[in-house]
Amino acid sequence: MDADVVVIGAGAAGSSTAWHLAQRGRDVVLLERFARGHAWGSSHGATRIFRVAYRDPLYSRLATESIPMWRALERASG
Ligand SMILES: Cc1cc2nc3c(=O)[nH]c(=O)nc-3n(C[C@H](O)[C@H](O)[C@H](O)COP(=O)(O)OP(=O)(O)OC[C@H]3O[C@@H](n4cnc5c(N)ncnc54)[C@H](O)[C@@H]3O)c2cc1C
Repeated sequence: MDADVVVIGAGAAGSSTAWHLAQRGRDVVLLERFARGHAWGSSHGATRIFRVAYRDPLYSRLATESIPMWRALERASG
């Protein structure tokens, strides 16, 4: 199998990485050891708290910058 990038782990971080690379035209393979929607990672579950208050201002800035990306994901995924 040929790919530009192989991402291992389809949790929130790996899925986001693969999705953004694919949107930029990269040929991406995303590998996950369990079935889609499994409950053995940190990203399972239907609800999350979204916060921008962190001790480190870098995390506050990154969380704020991510809000439009979450909205784009909501639109793309329905
Ligand atoms: C109970 C709980 C509640 C949380 N609540 C919040 C919240 O309210 N708000 C918030 O912002 N954050 C919350 N978090 C934190 C947030 O969910 C995690 O930081 C985030 O989901 C981590 O994503 P990840 O992709 O790094 O890891 P994971 O979701 O764990 O994804 C890693 C994936 O890699 C796969 N994998 C591992 N090794 C391999 C391998 N060798 N080959 C193939 N696949 C592999 C695993 O199966 C898994 O699917 C919560 C976490 C937990 C556990």
